Amino acid sequence: MSATAENTFDIVILGGGSGGYACALRAAELGLSVALVEKGKLGGTCLHMGCIPTKALLHAAEVADTAREGQQFGVKTTFESVDMNGVNAYKDGVVARLYKGLQGLVKSKSIEYVEGEGRVVAKNVVEVAGRQLVGKNLVLATGSDAKSLPGLDITGRVMTSDQALFLDFVPSRVVVLGGGVIGVEFASVFKSFGSEVTIIEALPRLVAAEDEAISKQLERSFRKRKISFKTNVKFSGATQSGDVVSVAVESGETIEADLLLVAVGRGPVTAGLGYEEAGITLDRGYVLANERCQTNVEDIYAVGDIVPGLQLAHRGFAQGIFVAEHIAGLNPPVIDEMGIPRVTYCDPEIASIGYTEAQAKEKFGEIETYDYSLGGNGKSQILATQGFVRLVRQKDGPVVGVHMIGARMGEQVGEAQLIYNWEALPSDVAQLIHAHPTQNEALGEAHLALAGKPLHAHA
Ligand SMILES: Cc1cc2nc3c(=O)[nH]c(=O)nc-3n(C[C@H](O)[C@H](O)[C@H](O)COP(=O)(O)OP(=O)(O)OC[C@H]3O[C@@H](n4cnc5c(N)ncnc54)[C@H](O)[C@@H]3O)c2cc1C
Repeated sequence: MSATAENTFDIVILGGGSGGYACALRAAELGLSVALVEKGKLGGTCLHMGCIPTKALLHAAEVADTAREGQQFGVKTTFESVDMNGVNAYKDGVVARLYKGLQGLVKSKSIEYVEGEGRVVAKNVVEVAGRQLVGKNLVLATGSDAKSLPGLDITGRVMTSDQALFLDFVPSRVVVLGGGVIGVEFASVFKSFGSEVTIIEALPRLVAAEDEAISKQLERSFRKRKISFKTNVKFSGATQSGDVVSVAVESGETIEADLLLVAVGRGPVTAGLGYEEAGITLDRGYVLANERCQTNVEDIYAVGDIVPGLQLAHRGFAQGIFVAEHIAGLNPPVIDEMGIPRVTYCDPEIASIGYTEAQAKEKFGEIETYDYSLGGNGKSQILATQGFVRLVRQKDGPVVGVHMIGARMGEQVGEAQLIYNWEALPSDVAQLIHAHPTQNEALGEAHLALAGKPLHAHA
């Protein structure tokens, strides 16, 4: 098919996940003509296999814990069991409603939604089932998928998050391979659902990308919750016999489980899509892009998980919006990757932004760090949670890192990101009033203390 007017667009986007659809929506708002190509379901990993379904599981897990722990608050509750069919119906209902809403949103804009597997066949052409879509600009947004380790096949009771999201039973014993974000979130869910959980992590600590103090507190909390973990331990192999998986580690120890969850990271989906043939530079499968999301080939952009960096839905949204605005000539400000908020939704929750203490020392030299314990926070006592807010500031300068752990601390990241992104001084935040009693107040108290006027804290 030749390049007819109905097949020519300002932007052709390959992949309808967080990065791709955000770009399409913003571009359409700006009056650009857009084709959005998706081979699976609009919404991609985040909506169907990632953020949303996992957070629904985590909420069901919280409900199970609340039922178990009622007595602690003087409420007589008993925990009976987890009905996975019921949990899945609830989770799938949440996803279905959001999916319907998103489909309606895309339909309501003048976006050409093209179903099918696309491939870049020329510098400005994506082919889908014989149809050639010509774009003045191409946006690559094909996302990521779960990785495994050499020799470890994903089959039967050895699974990744893709399969673990649809379990129809609660496994008695689970081994989680990988103590990163996805690993600790699933470990938290399984424990709350009643499984015996062991995490195996090759690095020296859980959630190793976080500030070291956060890892220590999470490990303390997981010990208290009786979630076992082995750090600095390398996996050496797994065998399956019937419904039992034997997981071996390099020390020679073997752990038996009813399920092995492989959570060793996600890799870019870029192979065989014509990227290299179009002259686009890849590095270990990732598409290299500059701060304006431009690849080395003119008018080809890349957004989301295929670009090295944090694999987060809101980074994809932000990059997608950025590219649409850039193409429309709005000259948007570039995205500061350190200014992207990060939340790990296990129990207790972790939220952070900016530099860890170690990174800040390296980057800025002289820094100050302050830890505000949730022990002094009224709401934390009410919720019976433990944790802290850690602030990192440049000596006599702005706050360059906020690190929080404890119940509901994920919700506090909104203010933390304003503090970091607006380069606030502790004294700027200290003069703002934080409602009492809230978990948010801990953030205010930490700034009061760092500004030299602690309230419910020792200096
Ligand atoms: C278990 C799990 C939990 C997560 N939790 C969170 C969370 O709580 N918060 C958070 O911010 N992030 C979370 N993430 C990460 C988040 O899902 C991703 O960062 C985000 O989805 C990346 O968006 P993307 O657009 O780059 O890719 P994707 O969402 O992967 O979308 C890419 C799309 O491209 C399509 N595609 C691929 N190849 C082609 C082709 N050739 N033709 C047509 N279409 C194609 C795919 O079908 C897919 O729909 C989680 C991920 C997982 C796996």
